[in-house]
Amino acid sequence: MIEYCTEAIVLAKEDAGEADSRVFLYTPDNGLIIAKSKSTRKITSKLAAHLEPLNWSTVRLVNNKSWQIVDALRMKRLSNLRFLEVFRLVKEVSAAEQPDQWMWQLLKTLYDDDYNAAAAIAAVLKIAGFDPQEATCHSCQSEQPNSFLLNSAKYICQQCLYLSGDSEPSFKWS
Ligand SMILES: [Zn+2]
Repeated sequence: MIEYCTEAIVLAKEDAGEADSRVFLYTPDNGLIIAKSKSTRKITSKLAAHLEPLNWSTVRLVNNKSWQIVDALRMKRLSNLRFLEVFRLVKEVSAAEQPDQWMWQLLKTLYDDDYNAAAAIAAVLKIAGFDPQEATCHSCQSEQPNSFLLNSAKYICQQCLYLSGDSEPSFKWS
């Protein structure tokens, strides 16, 4: 069993079973780590507040075939809830346990004041290899589309997105 202590940015948290959570962490040395956290949905959980999305926390993990969080301490928190969308995108475009220093640096920068969430979405897409500045709408070829379709990894303009009535998850940045 490996024990690992790291700073981590909490991207998202999902329910896992009766009382547990699945936590998506972004770490400097391992990139995206998906870890289980026991009993964090119980009201008595001391860990839960430290593992909320938008937190920048120090976490202690153990790995026994899969990751489990055994301790966490919140250091910083983003108050702007629009960044939940940015973090959701980071979670979607990141492969597990593949560190990316650019992504880590960007995430850290978001904790400085006045970073705009829309600009952050564009920056995440660029790091992930989908530079929005060079993109055109996949449907009408217009320049500077402002939405990204997650499943098909295509750009689309607002008008085509509206006309398509598509329910595919998309990210918008302006
Ligand atoms: Zn279009």
